[in-house]
Amino acid sequence: MPGRAPLARWLNDTNDVTQTFLAAGQLPDLVNLAGGLPDPSTWPVSDLSDFAGRVVTEHTAEVLGYSPIDGLPDLRDRIAAEFSHGDLNLTRDNVLITTGGMQGLDLLGKVFLDPGQTIAAQSPAYLGAIDAWKPRAPQYRAMVMETNDFDAEAAMTGAQFAYTVPNFSNPSGRLVPEDQRRALVAAAEATGCWLVEDDPYGHLYYDGAPLPRMLELSANGAEVYNGPVVYLGTFSKQLAPGLRVGWVIAAPEIIVALTTAKQGSDMFTSGLCQRVALEAMERGLPEQLLPGILDLYRTRRDALCEAMQADLSDLFTWQVPEGGMFVWAVARDPALDTDRLMKTGLEHGVCISPSSVFDPMGQDRRAIRVNFTLNPPDVLAEGIRRLARATRAELRQ
Ligand code: PMP
Repeated sequence: MPGRAPLARWLNDTNDVTQTFLAAGQLPDLVNLAGGLPDPSTWPVSDLSDFAGRVVTEHTAEVLGYSPIDGLPDLRDRIAAEFSHGDLNLTRDNVLITTGGMQGLDLLGKVFLDPGQTIAAQSPAYLGAIDAWKPRAPQYRAMVMETNDFDAEAAMTGAQFAYTVPNFSNPSGRLVPEDQRRALVAAAEATGCWLVEDDPYGHLYYDGAPLPRMLELSANGAEVYNGPVVYLGTFSKQLAPGLRVGWVIAAPEIIVALTTAKQGSDMFTSGLCQRVALEAMERGLPEQLLPGILDLYRTRRDALCEAMQADLSDLFTWQVPEGGMFVWAVARDPALDTDRLMKTGLEHGVCISPSSVFDPMGQDRRAIRVNFTLNPPDVLAEGIRRLARATRAELRQ
């Protein structure tokens, strides 16, 4: 008898660590340092509800009817204008609106990857990207960019695309310096490899001025951008993740290909959410909110790092991130298994993300990702005290 369509790859793929995460959400009095969530207090609730009410009556057909696959033309124009800068000339043909940044990752997999092809990916890598591309069973070439001998051209040769999060990477919190950004762009040009710049944290600089985007560095003054960078943006961290509005900026041929793929995914991103996002942009809401968000998260970053310095410095090493949402801490003792630490942490009332989930091969057990945006300073400090106790307990095993 012919078998039914196999589900095993999907059913068995939810690994042990993910199951434990899900169960952790139910525990009382847990300090959750595992997620990557913005603080709900940063959401502009009354503005968004005002915009939503108004656009439903003022733009009824556009927001309640079917709308274009590639996004509302006004929003595409607005994003093109906002990102055009110096030599970088963008038109709406360079912009696709997506359902969150996450959909951009999914569509890249659909368009660029045949089964088993190679992705060069900044290592460690964003869990959501690994998940998005898993159905294509890609080969990964790890780009470990902290080392002096990192060779961008060697990494990109033969890869379908290179995946990077240059601003405060999820999970490592690392800021890719300008010379390395330039080297990545030069390598993309030399090898013909597309260079994905995933940038949800590009506005979250707590200490210094923002570095140039690779999108800008790859611009050559063409009337319509046609360079190798595929830039992914999102309103999730600037307005609210529930809007599910993101965008891709790239050469027009890529936008056309991704639009074809999007047609077979969700047809279009909610017109209501797009109009609300556009209203927010037109009123300068992201710019108005930013200083408050930066103050809140900078204070929390400092509080977390102080607590870690006090309680974890003999157990882990880390660098204070200059932005973003995460501290990446590497165990001093190579015998510490951070998958096990995650479970022991739950017994002590704290949840962290272990490095294995940010490794496409699931092997890396030497580090943890700690989030600082969701909890106030006293809760962060309590979480770190619990984590220190859990780590010592784990090392005594
Ligand atoms: N890329 C990275 C690196 C992320 O950290 C996230 C969200 N945390 C996303 C993409 C997707 O974000 P969203 O779908 O909410 O826009």
